[in-house]
Order: sequence, then C-alpha cells, then structure tokens
Amino acid sequence: MRGGFEGQVAVVTGAARGIGREIARRLAATGALVVAADVRFDDPPETQPGGEEGRIERAVLDVSDGVSVETGVAGILESYGKISLLVNNAGITRDSLLMRMKKEEWSTVISVNLTGTYRMCRAVVPAMVRARYGRIVNVSSVVAGLGNPGQANYAASKAGVEGLTRTLARELASRNITVNAVAPGFIDTAMTRALSEEARARLLDLVPLGRLGSPADVASAVLFLLGEEASYVTGHVLNVNGGMYM
Ligand code: NAD
Repeated sequence: MRGGFEGQVAVVTGAARGIGREIARRLAATGALVVAADVRFDDPPETQPGGEEGRIERAVLDVSDGVSVETGVAGILESYGKISLLVNNAGITRDSLLMRMKKEEWSTVISVNLTGTYRMCRAVVPAMVRARYGRIVNVSSVVAGLGNPGQANYAASKAGVEGLTRTLARELASRNITVNAVAPGFIDTAMTRALSEEARARLLDLVPLGRLGSPADVASAVLFLLGEEASYVTGHVLNVNGGMYM
C-alpha cells in the first residue's frame, strides 16, 4: 500500500511497540520517511516496507527529558531536512487511587504524557512554521472525557493534552499547521494486556461494538488526520473507542 505521504518526514514518539509502532509502519508503507522515537527498542529493526522514500529510522529519545528532546529533534532536522508530521504517542500509566498516589507517580505520568507532548511541540514547531506546513496529532485517551478511578494522573495528563491540542490549533492555524488529537478507548496492547481476565470482561461490557480496538484502528484515525483529506480539520479530538464514550 503506497501513496499519500511521499516526501513527508514523520516523527512518531513511543514507536518501539504498540500503537506507535503500527502508526510508524503504516506511514512508512504509504511513502513517508518515519523516525520512530522511543526511550528503548527491545526488538531488532524490522524489514523495511521498501521503496525509495518509505522507510523507518530509529532514534533513542526520552520525551520526559528536555535535553534529549532538543538534541534528538535537532539531529532529525539535520539528517532529513524537515519534520512535516509529528505524532505525540509516547505515554505511560502509573495507576493508583488518589489517596495512595505518590507524588512521583503523579509527576512521572504528567512529565511523559503532557509535558512530553509540550516538549516535542516546542522543539518541532519552529521548523514547521518556517516551512509553512505541519500536521500534529496527539494521542489522548477516552479517560480524558470519562475519568477513571485509579487514573487521576493519567486522566489529568490526557485532558491536558486535549486542551494543549485545541490551543496550539488556534495558535498555528495561520501557518498552515493543523493540530488534532485521537482518543483511543481500550486497545489491545501491552498496556491493556496487563489487566486481569475479569477486568477485561468488565471493560468489554462498556463497549457497544463489543470488542477491544486494535492498534490498526487507531493508526487509521491518525493517518486520516495527518493526510490531505483532513486539511480543513484542526483542533478536533477524534474518538476511537467502539462507542464507549460519545
Ligand atoms: P505501550 O506501552 O505499548 O507503548 C508505549 C511506548 O511509549 C513504549 O514503546 C514506550 O517505550 C514508549 N515510551 C514510554 N515513555 C517514553 C518516553 N519518556 N519517551 C519516549 N517514549 C516513551 O502503549 P500503547 O498502548 O501503544 O499506547 C500508546 C499511546 O496510546 C499512549 O499515549 C497511551 O496513553 C495511549 N492510549 C492507549 C490505550 C490502550 O488501550 N492501549 C488507550 C488509550 C490511549
């Protein structure tokens, strides 16, 4: 499958596995040069989708570390000349009820999920402004809207990401840069495989479409928002949740 993203340089954070890896694969398969940025890569590099442009390069980058983000983004710009597509997908959970939540559990989740998205945007946007072109998609979560017991840190970080998305959409619209978010529901990845069978069954009862989503379901929504078909869409949060929140 080719077509659509030839000539584009994309950065996808948290792309070593799960949803981010699927987004990176799909972008490369449709012609983009993709930089998969992650704190760690456990698997060996994959076979490239081939073709002249569509390929995946790896960058070790920690979105919770300002210096790592600045040097990482500077290196990508030097190597590939531009960043036209940015997907802020890196995210973590440290679940605990508020009364037991340690300050470190709060601040680590905010630093990766929310401040990490700010850091990446802060580092990449100047190049997009100069190019008068950019597409940013931030990965939120259904819990930003729903709330979820045990996830005060995570829900607050994702609600913050949605506010950041709408604000950057307004700030950057005149530069031909769109900023949108995708809010997945329960997606079949390592994050949800950690749940017990009982917890998964309970969650499935809340999903009208009756199944967990796949990384491919989320990647389809992200690619739509990055593509030309969505060039008049900005400041939007697209739910990909099987109907569990509407
Ligand atoms: P995952 O845990 O499988 O993958 C997350 C990736 O982010 C990992 O490769 C990890 O190494 C990377 N990462 C973690 N901290 C990082 C950092 N500081 N810098 C760079 N990379 C870092 O998770 P996933 O399920 O693929 O989730 C991807 C995104 O989707 C996250 O933002 C998550 O909050 C969101 N999301 C997931 C679900 C779900 O059900 N899986 C639901 C809603 C939202």
